[in-house]
Amino acid sequence: VFEPTSPHDATLMWFRRDLRIEDNAAFHAAFSAGRAVHCVFVFDTEILNALTNRADRRVEFIHASVIELAQRLHDAGGELIVCHGRAEDEIVNLAQRLDVGAVYANRDYEPAAKARDEAVARRLAETGITLALRKDHTVFDSDEVLTGDGRPFSVYTPYKNAWLKRLQTTDAFYLKSYPPEKYLNRLALGSRTSRPPRPKGAPHVPTLEELGFKPTNLKELNIPTGASGARQLLNDFKRRMARYHEARDYPAVKGTSYLSVHLRFGTISIRELAATARKAASEGGAVWLSELIWRDFYCMVLDRNPHVVGHAYKRQYEDIAFPNDKALFTAWCEARTGYPIVDAAMRQINHSGYMHNRLRMIAASFLVKDLHCDWRWGERYFAEHLNDFDLAANNGGWQWAASTGCDAQPYFRIFNPVTQSQRFDAQGKFIKKYLPEMARVDAKHIHAPWLMSADEQQRVGCVIGRDYPAPVVDHAVARAIALALFGRVAKGS
Ligand code: FAD
Repeated sequence: VFEPTSPHDATLMWFRRDLRIEDNAAFHAAFSAGRAVHCVFVFDTEILNALTNRADRRVEFIHASVIELAQRLHDAGGELIVCHGRAEDEIVNLAQRLDVGAVYANRDYEPAAKARDEAVARRLAETGITLALRKDHTVFDSDEVLTGDGRPFSVYTPYKNAWLKRLQTTDAFYLKSYPPEKYLNRLALGSRTSRPPRPKGAPHVPTLEELGFKPTNLKELNIPTGASGARQLLNDFKRRMARYHEARDYPAVKGTSYLSVHLRFGTISIRELAATARKAASEGGAVWLSELIWRDFYCMVLDRNPHVVGHAYKRQYEDIAFPNDKALFTAWCEARTGYPIVDAAMRQINHSGYMHNRLRMIAASFLVKDLHCDWRWGERYFAEHLNDFDLAANNGGWQWAASTGCDAQPYFRIFNPVTQSQRFDAQGKFIKKYLPEMARVDAKHIHAPWLMSADEQQRVGCVIGRDYPAPVVDHAVARAIALALFGRVAKGS
């Protein structure tokens, strides 16, 4: 990948997981290098064809966000060219047809995206066009925060300290923003292409149906889309940020930002969020910043250790002989484990595509350490269902819970789903929201309802085995099995 050496007449901005024009590094760079800038987004059939569920909230989210981006560019006098095809072919063909000197995009750290970008760069280079990538998805690239002897970190806390130190000394540079207003008038119109001119009023974006997808319950869930949706969520969170450290662990409380899906699709800039957290100068802001640093950390881990896709970070954990009972896995997926906190969490993800962070940890730990299913099964399930699915963070989260990751939960520290529930949903408010069959179960019994007497079960209308399942495993027994399974391979580690 080469940087252009001389200014071009025109450049092409390729939007991917950065669906905004505000504070967008590649967008800015495209203007710095070209007198006119064309913009494109590709609905990539390589990615879309692999999705088995034709009603996918992520596709609807991207679709709505692309419409907003197209409108924004249209209002500024430009056009977003929207293609539906294989990204590699579409970009190479378009760049040649538009006769641009360079294509600009923001760097992606996932192995498949890296391979695609290398292929695009190679094919563009054959006709003298460069693919220039910019850092935008993270505050720091994987080679910017290193140990004293120049190696990538494998433990979070020293990484975080080094990250903060580097930011402190160079704040203005790393959190620099790229306001688009100055250069938007140089947007090129797509009419230079051979495509027919568009009607004046509205930009053209294929419908969901034309892309082969159906609408989901995204609107009903009130998940705001696009850069305007991200802004709305950030403004709301700014008022709550100072209390983040106290509120973030309780799923029944509105304590977190809910920005993950926006960070996933780049409808808001990570630099802006990091700057906002620092400016807040509160304990809540500092703790929230450390969550954003986890995100950088896992991107770095994936970039430097691509073997984590499909494999344990710590290789000795590859050999765990998970029994992988399909019936138990299905009970987990279908929220029928008999452990209310786990089932409520699974109903949340199944209904909304979101799951609170505390619950992700509990549900993941339960699948691996209580049901003894391979963490990769759970990772895949989350990947299919989470709106904010991000390979780096999801893999990192699963390997943390499964004790196979770098800086993971030690294998012998096993979450007790009942005490976790008592601690983080004491009154059972979250459980009752997703398990209406528990509406009349009191706070004492809601975490382990099988301990209610038969009379009590009748009285509150929640008979175990009839209205709500009996626990599929006994936690104490399951814990001992997990210790044996992990202990066998962990010896010597
Ligand atoms: P906030 O608490 O407001 O945090 C702000 C942002 O920081 C998040 O939006 C996210 O971008 C980042 N962040 C927070 N916690 C983490 C973390 N532990 N690791 C990495 N980044 C973090 N997050 C995803 O974005 N995508 C995933 O696919 C994903 N899968 C997960 C799987 C498991 C098993 C676990 C334990 C965690 C996973 N997380 C994932 C991390 C975390 O649960 C979500 O980022 C968070 O719940 C999103 O809600 P929020 O935006 O309100 O978070």
